Amino acid sequence: MNDDRAALVDASKDLVRLGLNQGTAGNISLRHREGMLITPSGIAPETMARDMMAVMSLDAETWTGPEKPSSEWRLHRDILRHRPDVGAVVHTHSLYATVLATLHRPIPALHYMIAAFNGPEIRCTPYAPFGTQALSDLIIEHLGDRHGVLLGNHGMVATGSSLKQAMWRAAELETLAKMAYLAGCAGGAAILPDDEIDRVIERFKDYGLSAEKPRKP
Ligand SMILES: [Zn+2]
Repeated sequence: MNDDRAALVDASKDLVRLGLNQGTAGNISLRHREGMLITPSGIAPETMARDMMAVMSLDAETWTGPEKPSSEWRLHRDILRHRPDVGAVVHTHSLYATVLATLHRPIPALHYMIAAFNGPEIRCTPYAPFGTQALSDLIIEHLGDRHGVLLGNHGMVATGSSLKQAMWRAAELETLAKMAYLAGCAGGAAILPDDEIDRVIERFKDYGLSAEKPRKP
């Protein structure tokens, strides 16, 4: 258990180090026994410690502190509930993903790495206020069986079977968003056909981090 807590602290610091997050905006969860461990509310990664991680059930709205869980605990709980293949969830306001989210623009298949998200585009939800059940419901609907989604006028979510895989996807999602933004500025990218993305998804099943299987809870 302590290793999981330390891993969440390290991952929170990594999000800042990688330029994927700032201040107290982002939050991360990890499947833990029958529930989840989640980063605390309103605490910057540089002052985060392993004993500040909150423990929550996936069935109830109760938590064990000492700190309150992130205000986005609903989206983390609901993704882990709906997606048995997901072991970790990363939510950030990374710059390019959030810019596209303010435009309500999905990320298209402008690069084959989109296949790491299990589909030919990364969808974008309409806006809903942070921390609400309405936002969580939109995320479940637009995430579907994919591994990433943009949150309208807010940010993004990336998932993984492990924390390492979710962090990798968060960085990949931001890179794809940056490519989509820049290609859009230069007149628009050529978009790969859906059947090519399907082929890459098959090839990714035994390639690198995208091949990681869900860990046992
Ligand atoms: Zn947020």
